[in-house]
Amino acid sequence: MPDRYAAGRRWARSAELKDKDLTQDTISALPITVRNVTKTYGAVHALDNVSLDVKSGEFLTLLGPSGSGKTTLLMVLAGFTRPDTGSLKFGEAEVIRTAPHLRDVGMVFQNYALFPHMTVAGNVGYPLRLRRVPKPEAAARIERALETVQLGGYGERRIDQLSGGQKQRVALARSIVFEPRILLMDEPLSALDKKLRDRMQIELRHLHEKLGMTTVYVTHDQREALTMSDRIAVVNHGKIMQLATPQQLYDLPANRFVADFIGDSTFIPVTRSGDQVVYGDTALEYTGALPDTATLVLMVRPERLRLVPQGATEGSNLFQGTASEVVYQGDSYLMYATLADGTEISLRGAIRGGTVSNLPKVGDPVTLALDPADTVLIDGGQT
Ligand code: ADP
Ligand code: MG
Repeated sequence: MPDRYAAGRRWARSAELKDKDLTQDTISALPITVRNVTKTYGAVHALDNVSLDVKSGEFLTLLGPSGSGKTTLLMVLAGFTRPDTGSLKFGEAEVIRTAPHLRDVGMVFQNYALFPHMTVAGNVGYPLRLRRVPKPEAAARIERALETVQLGGYGERRIDQLSGGQKQRVALARSIVFEPRILLMDEPLSALDKKLRDRMQIELRHLHEKLGMTTVYVTHDQREALTMSDRIAVVNHGKIMQLATPQQLYDLPANRFVADFIGDSTFIPVTRSGDQVVYGDTALEYTGALPDTATLVLMVRPERLRLVPQGATEGSNLFQGTASEVVYQGDSYLMYATLADGTEISLRGAIRGGTVSNLPKVGDPVTLALDPADTVLIDGGQT
C-alpha cells in the first residue's frame, strides 16, 4: 500500500523532535501494554478488542495470515494509526495520543522506505541530523550502527548500489541509530531470498540480544516466528488467538486455527465421556489436560506419529490403517495412511540406512502409534 511508504518517510523525518540523551550507552527497554484496542475500516474489523502485554526487552512476534491485522497493530504501536478505542502504554506512560515522533520507537518497514538519493550514511544519520546531533558525534554513531548491522565502511555508498539484503541492513541501522527503547519491524525480511533470510533471522536475533530493546516483529512465516521469538502472538481476523512461547504454541495450540497455522497436523474427531476420550472403540491415553469444549479433536503432528511393526497390539494409542502414499523427501519420508473410518493421517519419519528399503508400499496395512505425551486434545471449534 503506497501510504505505508509515506509512513516510513514520515517516521524518519519525525525523529527530530525527540529530545533524548544520546550520550548514554545502554538502552533501557520498556514494556508495552495494549488494552482493548479496536480499529475498524468500514465493515472490516482490522483489530477486534486486542489486549497484549509485551515484556520489557522481549522479542515478540505477531504471526498471522495476510489481512489478519498485524500491520494495523504495529501502526497503532508506532502511532501512525489511531485506534477507535483502547489504550496503549509504554512503561507507565499512556501514549495513545502521543505523536509518532515522540514515542521513542524505531521502525523497519517491509519496503525499507529509504531515501534513494542519499548515501548510506545520509540515510542512517537522518534521524540524528534532524535532531542536530553534532557532526563528529553523529559520524561516530552512524559508523557504530553500520558496524552493528555488518555494513562498516559502507557509509559513502549510494542506496541504488546495494543489494536487497544490504538495503534491509541500512533500514535497520537507521532504526537503531538513536537507540530507541522499542523496535518495531514489519516483515523486514520478506523481500530477501531464502538463504539470506535464514541468515538474517539469526543475525536479527543476535542483534536483539546485544541491544536489548523491546521488539515487536511481524511475519506471516511460521518458521521465521518460531526461529526468532521469545513469544508469539498468533493473530487472525483482528484477534489474538494465542500468545505463548514457540514450544507451547507448537505442542499445545489453543485451538485448531493455531494448530493448523503452525506446523502440519491431522485432526481426528473424538468423543468424550467424562475424562475418557474415545476414538473408534479405543479409549485414548493422554497426559495433558482436556480443554473445556464441545468440539474436541485429537491433533496429530506427523513427526510424532510412529510406524510400529504391522499388527502390533502392545502399547497405547494404536491406529490401524492402509498406506495410501509414501513419499521420499531426502531428509525424511512422508507417509499418508487411511484409517478404518476413512480419516487420512500423515506420518513423517527419519531416514537412516535401510529405512527406504523397509518402507511400506501403497496398499500395505500399517500400524501407527502415538505416545500418550504426544496425544494432544484441542478445541476443534475455532478454525
Ligand atoms: P496484515 O498486516 O496482517 O496483512 P493489515 O493490518 O494490513 O493486515 O490489514 C487488516 C485488515 O484491515 C485487512 O482486511 C485490510 O484490508 C484492512 N485495512 C488495513 N488498512 C486499511 C486502510 N487504510 N483502509 C482500509 N482497510 C484497511
Ligand atoms: Mg502487513
